[in-house]
Amino acid sequence: MSTLTNSVQWPPSLWAAQTPPGPELPDLQGSVQADVVIIGGGFTGLSTALHLREAGTDVAIVEAMEPGWGASGRNNGQVIPTLSRPDPDDLVARHGAAGERFVAMLRDSASNLFDTVRRYNIDAEHEQTGWVQPVHTPGRIKIAERRFKQWSKFGAPVELLSRDQARDMLGSDAWHGGFWNKTGGHINPLALARGLARTVLSLGGRIYARSPVIDFARQGDRWVVRTARGELSARALVLASNAYSGEFSKALAPDLAHEVMPVLSWQMATQPLSDNIRKTIIPARQAMSDTHGELYFARYDARNRLVTGGAVIGPGNKAERLKARVAERLQRLWPQIGEVRFDYVWNGYVGMTTDYMPRIHRLGPDAYGWTGCNGRAVALTIPLGAELAKAVRGVPAKQLALPFTEPVTIPAHALLRPFAPLMLLLYRYRDAREIA
Ligand SMILES: Cc1cc2nc3c(=O)[nH]c(=O)nc-3n(C[C@H](O)[C@H](O)[C@H](O)COP(=O)(O)OP(=O)(O)OC[C@H]3O[C@@H](n4cnc5c(N)ncnc54)[C@H](O)[C@@H]3O)c2cc1C
Repeated sequence: MSTLTNSVQWPPSLWAAQTPPGPELPDLQGSVQADVVIIGGGFTGLSTALHLREAGTDVAIVEAMEPGWGASGRNNGQVIPTLSRPDPDDLVARHGAAGERFVAMLRDSASNLFDTVRRYNIDAEHEQTGWVQPVHTPGRIKIAERRFKQWSKFGAPVELLSRDQARDMLGSDAWHGGFWNKTGGHINPLALARGLARTVLSLGGRIYARSPVIDFARQGDRWVVRTARGELSARALVLASNAYSGEFSKALAPDLAHEVMPVLSWQMATQPLSDNIRKTIIPARQAMSDTHGELYFARYDARNRLVTGGAVIGPGNKAERLKARVAERLQRLWPQIGEVRFDYVWNGYVGMTTDYMPRIHRLGPDAYGWTGCNGRAVALTIPLGAELAKAVRGVPAKQLALPFTEPVTIPAHALLRPFAPLMLLLYRYRDAREIA
């Protein structure tokens, strides 16, 4: 049995450079059995496995590369207890009682993540400093007011920030107020993924790495998952390959792969800021993502780098163009920052749905999957894993915070995919205008 680790190609990210290696893992060879098989070792798969092991259920993850190789190890690490656009009333209007249970799960999701990290002593460079969504035009205070009103109704610890409060919190005059949730914060996401993987192993779970699943099928009363060198038969299955579902095998789950547009999101980390400058920019170290469609976002890492990013379209060296564009943005927001140099630039796929809603599915008897993180599910994946674990253990749907829907694929997905980046032009057009 191979026990190689880190033999896979990691994206050249800040997290890959700074995070201690993950556990040594075998690949899948021969015929293996488990009670539950999970395809994908990101936060969703790892959290599902962790909760199954807490309940004493036998579980094996089959991961194409290494735990955290997908979105979970590449993201900005902002722990945000909201969706990107839909608010509680949208979820309840669409999903009724299941929507209400989902809203409660989302409300508690950031605390759930930080509690999990503390409970298992995972060193994820975590800072529960809160999450703030400042508004970038005066009219967009309506967005903050709506969120504040709806989340207050559901008992979330949220506040509406005035322009002065936003200025004090962020150290910049650029915003006009905002929405503030005290339970949010930020983490080193790859450290969290690797820490969760270690925890799953320590609880007796199995993780097979470097084992891309080709397909899965129902055989008798079992699910059989096939890789190039082995197969795993299980009573129940969780598909946790999310935006990377089409990456290794087009046959894995075409319905799920085609209900999201995988959009490349670029991340960047500056050189560490001097302490004097750092104290003037987001001095209390909150995570921040604003109301631009072409999102402005930033948080500190443990070495006082600002971890931010941007979007870019068209030909040419994208990383170099982004460096110039995002440096100019940071200087505009915080003139005191001076010269900006980026040590790391990397990217990853965000799975966007047309309505920004997540999609959670029953895939067959004792089989579940989800997709559509819309760039906002670091916090969500941890309690979502707990719910998926309950589902495969037979907890009735009416007790689950899982608003199930049928997969709805995006028409002409393959034709449209190359044009998805052009949405950025629409975002820029809207960002520059006031909302009605
Ligand atoms: C660049 C970027 C920035 C982001 N920033 C934030 C943020 O700051 N805050 C936030 O809340 N959200 C953010 N997100 C979204 C967040 O990262 C995701 O919602 C979350 O990580 C999804 O976790 P997951 O486990 O469901 O999927 P993933 O982490 O993508 O895991 C899926 C796994 O499945 C594996 N896989 C795929 N196909 C196969 C196969 N055939 N066989 C076996 N394994 C397979 C992949 O290798 C991968 O490891 C960001 C996403 C990106 C890409």
